[in-house]
Amino acid sequence: MSDLDYIFSPQTVAVIGASTTPGKVGHDIFLNILRGGYTGTLYPVNPNARSVLSVRAYPSITEIPDEVELAIIILPPALALESVGKSVANGVKGIVIVSAGFKEVGGEGVEIEKEIVSICREAGVRLVGPNCLGVINPLPSVRLNASFSPRMPAPGKISFISQSGALCTSVLDFAADRDFGFSKFISIGNKADVDELDLLQYLHEDIDTEVIMIYLEELRRGPEFIEAVKEITSGRRRTPVLVIKSGRTSAGARAAASHTGALAGSEAVYDSIFEQSGIIRANSINELFDYASAFTYKTTTALGKISRKLPVGNRVAIVTNAGGPGIVATDMTISSGLELAQFQPQTVGQLAQHLPSTANLHNPVDVIGDATHDRYEHALAAVLKDEGVDGALVILTPQSMTDALGIAKAIVRVARGSRKPILCSFMGVVDVSEGVEYLQEHGYPVFRFPEDAAKAFGALYQHSRWLNREELKPFKLDHDKKLAKKIVQEAMDAGKTYVGELGGLDLLKCYGFKVLPTELAKTSREAGDIAERIGFPVVLKIVSEQIVHKSDAGGVLVKLRDRGEVTEGFKKIVDSAREYDSEAVIEGVLVQKMAPKGEEVIFGMNRYPIFGPLLMFGMGGIFVEVFQDVKFSLAPVGREEAVRMIHGIKGFKLLNGFRGRPKADIHTLEKLLVSLSDMAVNHPEIMEMDLNPLLVHPEGEGATVADCRIILKEALGGAADRKSTAQNL
Ligand code: ADP
Ligand code: MG
Repeated sequence: MSDLDYIFSPQTVAVIGASTTPGKVGHDIFLNILRGGYTGTLYPVNPNARSVLSVRAYPSITEIPDEVELAIIILPPALALESVGKSVANGVKGIVIVSAGFKEVGGEGVEIEKEIVSICREAGVRLVGPNCLGVINPLPSVRLNASFSPRMPAPGKISFISQSGALCTSVLDFAADRDFGFSKFISIGNKADVDELDLLQYLHEDIDTEVIMIYLEELRRGPEFIEAVKEITSGRRRTPVLVIKSGRTSAGARAAASHTGALAGSEAVYDSIFEQSGIIRANSINELFDYASAFTYKTTTALGKISRKLPVGNRVAIVTNAGGPGIVATDMTISSGLELAQFQPQTVGQLAQHLPSTANLHNPVDVIGDATHDRYEHALAAVLKDEGVDGALVILTPQSMTDALGIAKAIVRVARGSRKPILCSFMGVVDVSEGVEYLQEHGYPVFRFPEDAAKAFGALYQHSRWLNREELKPFKLDHDKKLAKKIVQEAMDAGKTYVGELGGLDLLKCYGFKVLPTELAKTSREAGDIAERIGFPVVLKIVSEQIVHKSDAGGVLVKLRDRGEVTEGFKKIVDSAREYDSEAVIEGVLVQKMAPKGEEVIFGMNRYPIFGPLLMFGMGGIFVEVFQDVKFSLAPVGREEAVRMIHGIKGFKLLNGFRGRPKADIHTLEKLLVSLSDMAVNHPEIMEMDLNPLLVHPEGEGATVADCRIILKEALGGAADRKSTAQNL
């Protein structure tokens, strides 16, 4: 038995702060438990009343002549603290504090909350809240509605965790309208003790929960969360986790001196956490429910085992009796990461046999407005048999001759013989209701609009792909960690806040990055000498701590072919840099060998307070700024994550040999991303990195760093106290 069972399925409950005044939270919660038909024993605690709602009241929990398992406390902070102490002393096994006025208001509230947590922890008692709506367990064996929602939802297989109390009531209302049943429903409030991860783990073990939905505002755990949830979504017993996250930013992206920093808003962090842990993100409450209903859709296998109906691939067949909705569904199918299936000739032949000549025999199959159940049945059976089809969307618009119930029955008949998922959209409310009810009774998800069904199919496919993801053999990487540590330490000791391109290249070399011969010139003559030594063509770059984006200052010249061009170029870029920023301290000019041709990509890293290093990959150069075509992942990034990041950008097609372009060395990119992650993990002093561009060459030819910027943690005392060590030219 889990300690959270005492919160969700207690035998005895005391409501401390139960009130006789209707409209007060202490009254309403007591009323809701009573009216909800709680199967255990309920005690009101109120020192000033003989009874609450005709139930004999006790002045204190210590007076209750029974063992109390769960105490629900609705009292102001100071009194709540006192009754937590009493409850724990009295052997209570779980506590829910509904009242507000704790950490969220600051001041004394913070201290009281801390004290309450330490009392609970010491006694091994779990605490939900404070500042929450409560908990609900509608299962017939418990029927506990310890919340201020008067509505007890129907029992079901979905559990809901909410960080917002207010949202819970609307979700319950919405659920009632859509005939949704819940297994557990909980509002976590301030998460003083029990947080979303505790609950995810508990609900994952709960046999009554098949799908978990979360409304999330912020996470307090990063890498640990990913590890645990990965196991929940794809381990031994797989529980799909659906999340809706409010747009509130709280992870706090630092004021950014790098592209990575600027692009990595906290939303991007959350998106990568969800992707890395296999959580499916919904964009609205409506979508959340749509996805949940798709995930409770099950099939009985030949061996009698019940399993979730998931598509093995992304090729969808659409069967509709109206053209317009078919097109809408097609559009959404494509934008949900799915494809419209191409039928085999024999499928088209079968469709031709059973459909009128005006019907569209290709995807989306239009069975025409006057279709009756037999046309749907034949068409659906034919497309599902096609090996090139992984599932179907069935769309019905009510026409005068449409028999929604008959068609629903036909769908269920066809579905029984197939393992491929069928998601239906019966458009309308009144005319189609009999059909919708029939499908729902038989466990088939029905969506109001075809685009909702298509999106839900996309979510099922996302989950299926996650479950079937490939495990790759880790790279064997041999880094020169010792030298790297020395380089970083020297920069820190010198009071530097960033490692320039020159030092950065040495550091990157330790992690297997290919870099170009690069030297610093102080005069045009020196530049000419260096260029002759390293060989033409070369690139010149201005070196100044104040000039972050060198090109903006006219500080980069490429393809210089001889000594004359180099010496002239030297003067030119120093002049334009001075013009750009007259205050800038110019240390000199880098002379760098021109890199061989390649596609420009960006590698980046940005460190977050709770989550740690966040890595970024995307198309580089100007594409970063214009298209922001990038993907993130929290470190440590292994080979699978690297693959996901690289394959996840829109520009991947360009790298993968688009229209006659050579295929880029993607394998090297994977390896280098893992190396960058190692670098971020090994050197906590590095706050941000930008490699932009990293030039990736054709397959087998590797990648070359053409620009890098590494920002260090400010040493004690901060940068402001330190004199720049840079010498002006
Ligand atoms: P910044 O990003 O500060 O403006 P970069 O060092 O990235 O300056 O140089 C600007 C552009 O010049 C790069 O995006 C790349 O296209 C090109 N470039 C820079 N260094 C090289 C090099 N060594 N070989 C080839 N192209 C280069
Ligand atoms: Mg650059």
